[in-house]
Amino acid sequence: MGVANKRSIAWGIAQSFAKANAEIILTYQTERLRENVEQLAATLQPHATVIGPCDVQSDAELDEVFEKVSAHFGGKLDILVHCLAFANREDLMGSFTNTSRAGYALAQDISSFSLIATAKRARPLMEAVGGGSIISLSYLGAERVVKNYNVMGVAKAALEASVRYCAQDLGGLNIRVNAISAGPIKTLAASGVRDFGKVLNYVKDITPLKRNTEQAEVGDTAVFLASEMARGITGEVIHVDSGYHLLGLMVADE
Ligand code: NAD
Repeated sequence: MGVANKRSIAWGIAQSFAKANAEIILTYQTERLRENVEQLAATLQPHATVIGPCDVQSDAELDEVFEKVSAHFGGKLDILVHCLAFANREDLMGSFTNTSRAGYALAQDISSFSLIATAKRARPLMEAVGGGSIISLSYLGAERVVKNYNVMGVAKAALEASVRYCAQDLGGLNIRVNAISAGPIKTLAASGVRDFGKVLNYVKDITPLKRNTEQAEVGDTAVFLASEMARGITGEVIHVDSGYHLLGLMVADE
């Protein structure tokens, strides 16, 4: 869930899963995105099918899309990738205390509650195959203050807590729930964060690996998390950010 265009992190994840020979269903938020997502899916044949629309704010669309997924996969699902978020642009700049009640609720609903809503619907399909893997996408702004990330930081904090609660709730069914905390990547959603270009340059210079995060690095980590190799990992937030998260105060040399 969450492919909008070729820059989407969800698209990088889909490509990694296709390389691993997974059979993939891509959902899209609105009809406006369908053609684009179908064109992308065509490049992954025979691995990808497109089913939608699925705006996560609509229980009816969620129900319908999961029914279609169930019909397509014969009542079974191994992996769910939840790779979507949204906040109003005006809540991603300026003073955090100006966040509106409506803007706060919207960011929480789309970016955090939707994990719970999708996990609930994936659960019976994963139970049918004796377990599964649910993967969401987070960012360092959940743990620390990141300039202009504002209301999305709070939504990501709730998302990461939801990952842990879902992991505990579904662990007895052998359903693992984890998140990848990705470094900044130039996507449509990221362009809503003010001064994002400056962020990319700053991060590139200062990270231990001295480079920005690539879609494919996140995609390959998602495949790892969904694989047998990660069978002992649940409730975890894995940073795929060239090591940026480990930095404290870095003062430039004279
Ligand atoms: P993107 O714009 O390509 O993807 C965001 C997706 O969210 C889009 O496909 C959009 O259609 C979907 N979406 C928004 N509202 C929705 C709704 N109501 N219902 C269904 N779908 C909805 O941007 P992206 O950067 O690939 O974002 C994917 C995820 O990665 C998000 O959770 C984002 O917070 C996270 N993330 C991004 C970065 C980054 O720097 N780009 C870093 C860390 C985490």
